[in-house]
Amino acid sequence: MNQSKKIVVIEDERDISRIIKNYMEKRGLEVAAADNAADGLHMIDLLEPDYIILDLTLPDMDGLELCRHIRKTRETPILILSARGNDTDKVLGLGFGADDYMTKPFSLSELLARIQAHFRRYDKITPPAAPSSERANAPLWIGELSIRKNEHRVCVRGRDISLSAKEFDLLLVLAENQNRVFSKAELLNRVWGYDQYVDDNTVSVYVRRIREKIEDHPSDPRYLKTVWGVGYKLCP
Ligand code: CA
Repeated sequence: MNQSKKIVVIEDERDISRIIKNYMEKRGLEVAAADNAADGLHMIDLLEPDYIILDLTLPDMDGLELCRHIRKTRETPILILSARGNDTDKVLGLGFGADDYMTKPFSLSELLARIQAHFRRYDKITPPAAPSSERANAPLWIGELSIRKNEHRVCVRGRDISLSAKEFDLLLVLAENQNRVFSKAELLNRVWGYDQYVDDNTVSVYVRRIREKIEDHPSDPRYLKTVWGVGYKLCP
């Protein structure tokens, strides 16, 4: 595990942020905690963390609003902690830009597993400043959709589309294997790095978000198709 990864936890229940901090720091991660949104934002600007954990209910701002606010300027992965169950759709959908979600009470080992899975995946797809050949920089075309992997850029008919890190990763996996059908479990593994069943609703929510951004008719998609009972594929 990378020694230098920094995490910011924004959580008003100090007992929770303290146990997260103790647990993660023993495992080589740096953790800074804030107990309100304003301090959290300041900390994020100051520390430029690699990962952000947000509580859904904060004293000065709703966690989802805070998430959206951070997303305006940053692609840092955001995991939301919520005391309520069955919020997956709300948290991962609706354009707030969260990447992951856990319900309290949560297990620290699972939280760590998710963070590590993210870093493993991220380090794999973001080669450390390797000399970029022209070929690696050439856009990948799918109909009128173009993806520039090195620049993390997606355009539809020349118009830039803004995707979160995980949305981009998911689209890229499909785009690099056009016409191949992926099951939700496979996508969870490839994009989130989970090797066990987590919550396959996450994939559906992401697919919906991507469709809303790239498709002219999200409910009748031209590119990102559902293969009923199997999974998803990207059609050229
Ligand atoms: Ca709270």
